Amino acid sequence: MTSEALARAESLIATIPDFPEPGILFRDISPLMADAAALRAVVDAVIEPFADAFDVVAGVEARGFMLAGAVAIAAGVGMAPIRKAGKLPRPAASVDYALEYGTASIEMSDDLPRGCRVLLVDDILATGGTLRAGQQLLAELGLVCAGTAVIMELDGLGGRDVCGPVHSVFRV
Ligand code: AMP
Repeated sequence: MTSEALARAESLIATIPDFPEPGILFRDISPLMADAAALRAVVDAVIEPFADAFDVVAGVEARGFMLAGAVAIAAGVGMAPIRKAGKLPRPAASVDYALEYGTASIEMSDDLPRGCRVLLVDDILATGGTLRAGQQLLAELGLVCAGTAVIMELDGLGGRDVCGPVHSVFRV
């Protein structure tokens, strides 16, 4: 992974004003994910600080799934989904949280052994509520959060004050 490859990957994140609501500057990772070299560079950058320190990667629905699946294959570990409420057939834990826009709750199944080291990932860190809820879910299920990582952190929204140290590939 080179800084050139990462700079190119960052340039592929699209910025869409006023989506899904007026005043929100939406960061769309889809063009980055669609590019093989950019995806590879970002996946390697997500894994790098946590190499051999996690047994499973958990991604938050929905764009976190895209990253988690790629990270899982690259790191040679399994992947666990953290889903929006009402989607899992066997939810074992549920946490409510506030979003940059709206509120939500997320759930997880009890499929991982106690003490399993989980790398928690999502596409964007904004206010931090989503990843904080993800960390709480892991704790409720007796799992160890081995780290928290995102593709892009939005500075100035206090996200890392809410969910603690986060590895961000990009910060804007
Ligand atoms: P938050 O809980 O405020 O940190 O919000 C993070 C979650 O909301 C992530 O799952 C993102 O996919 C989504 N999100 C929040 N703000 C944005 C944004 N400006 N652009 C894209 N996704 C966002």
